[in-house]
Amino acid sequence: MGTKYIFITGGVVSSLGKGIVSASLGKLLRARGFSVAVQKFDPYINVDPGTMSPFQHGEVFVTDDGAETDLDLGHYERFIDANLSHINNVTSGSVYQTVIEKERKGEYLGATVQTIPHITNEIKSRIYKATEQFKPDFLIIEIGGTIGDIEGLPFIEAIRQFKAEAGVGNAISIHCTLVPYLETSGELKTKPSQHSVNVLRSYGIQPEVLVCRTSHPIPLDEKEKLALFCSVQKDAVIECRDMKSIYEVPLALEEQNLAAVVLNLLQTHYRHADLKSWKDLVDRIHNTKYTIDVAIAGKYTKLSDAYISVVEALKHAGYDDNAKVNIHWINSEDCKDYEKCKELLKDIQAIVVPGGFGVRGIEGKLNVIKYARENNIPFLGLCLGMQCAVIEYARNVLKLPDVNSHEFSEECENPVIDLMLEQKNVTAYGGTMRLGQYECKLKDGSVAQKAYGTDVIYERHRHRYEVNNAYIEQLENAGLVFSGKSPDGKLMEILELPNLDWFVASQFHPEFKSRPERPHPLFKGLIDTAVKKLK
Ligand code: GLN
Repeated sequence: MGTKYIFITGGVVSSLGKGIVSASLGKLLRARGFSVAVQKFDPYINVDPGTMSPFQHGEVFVTDDGAETDLDLGHYERFIDANLSHINNVTSGSVYQTVIEKERKGEYLGATVQTIPHITNEIKSRIYKATEQFKPDFLIIEIGGTIGDIEGLPFIEAIRQFKAEAGVGNAISIHCTLVPYLETSGELKTKPSQHSVNVLRSYGIQPEVLVCRTSHPIPLDEKEKLALFCSVQKDAVIECRDMKSIYEVPLALEEQNLAAVVLNLLQTHYRHADLKSWKDLVDRIHNTKYTIDVAIAGKYTKLSDAYISVVEALKHAGYDDNAKVNIHWINSEDCKDYEKCKELLKDIQAIVVPGGFGVRGIEGKLNVIKYARENNIPFLGLCLGMQCAVIEYARNVLKLPDVNSHEFSEECENPVIDLMLEQKNVTAYGGTMRLGQYECKLKDGSVAQKAYGTDVIYERHRHRYEVNNAYIEQLENAGLVFSGKSPDGKLMEILELPNLDWFVASQFHPEFKSRPERPHPLFKGLIDTAVKKLK
């Protein structure tokens, strides 16, 4: 069959969980043996989210091919268990950049370059590129933002054109709305959804399916009202209730027959879904035996979305061990004082120091790592977390004076972390780090090798700094083991302290490759150790 297209928009409010709906629909189609790709359209003008503050935009998710993308791509990968790439995240910035570059090259042959058709054509060409690259049975395209946003209009117009060109039965749109519950009158309200669909219609798009986020069950008569006013079939009004775990959403949507409705609208033969292992997963999520208190010590702790893949990876490892992972957000700035740091961590069973940029909170992170090392608390350092582990070891075990990373101190006497050689002449900010998947060789007999059960791994990176090779011998003589290295042996990718129960850190970001049904070995090692110690 040719590729069928599903556009997903959102209305009424932001943060409706469109990303989870898109990922869940992908899962339901995958569970039927269809191939699925998911694309995210983000209306902002940044070329990619790589330059945005995690406080504003949450985590930057990195793909194998080194794209810095929206965190929704993480959900897509985790739900449909696929590896996505540059083409899966399209921003207004990247679209305008291409169009302007073409204009400068004279490719428009003197035409006046306009939103329609030039910008909309470029948007459509991205859909065709994804089609060509993945040749999926279904391409799900989520449009960021809320219907009515000025920024989103070129995307909405491109979809209108695309749907008309694709023809009936080849492309549909799903509109996600909020059906709020009014406590005082005890009623669910459908009017905001009706208004939102009206706005979408005014742009020329009639949605075929409504997914209604709600805290309460939507009675049949309210569904019928929504169907009538929004011109969708009755069975295409899908209730999407708040769930305890995002991994329940596919099952809840399956119960509402979302996939069956979609297949019908897209004139595709019905197939039965095999959701057995996913149901087992959800069972495990609800029936845990242990609780592990895990501290994440970072500086973006006010917005948990900033570390969403880390949080998910920890949970995945927990699911595998019948353990509920209880996250404690520790603002590393609060750990600057070692006594306070000890107090904050006293009931913690595992510690993660995640990635980050800039000097703020570093001294606190060093205290957190010292605490983990001295008290044999299972520890996992990620990227900046590994760099901090090296600084901590050089300061407190090697006892070198004035140790730091060149990122935080230009003049320090002992820069154990230094800018990577290839970064020395880089001046541009966006998309210039060491990004994406690289090979790493594991040391024979190391903790890391045992955890992975293999000698060669491929992991995703996003950094400019690395361990300074001038200090490796000293560090290793003092007991720090570099158990993962780039194939040429020059880049330190994993460190460990084999004498402790679990003290491992990586220069790469293992969190991006964890899956709910296949936890990442390094997260699994951390949680396994914490559970064993608990027992
Ligand atoms: N700031 C550090 C670097 O650029 C670490 C980056 C990160 O944690 N992703 O190398």
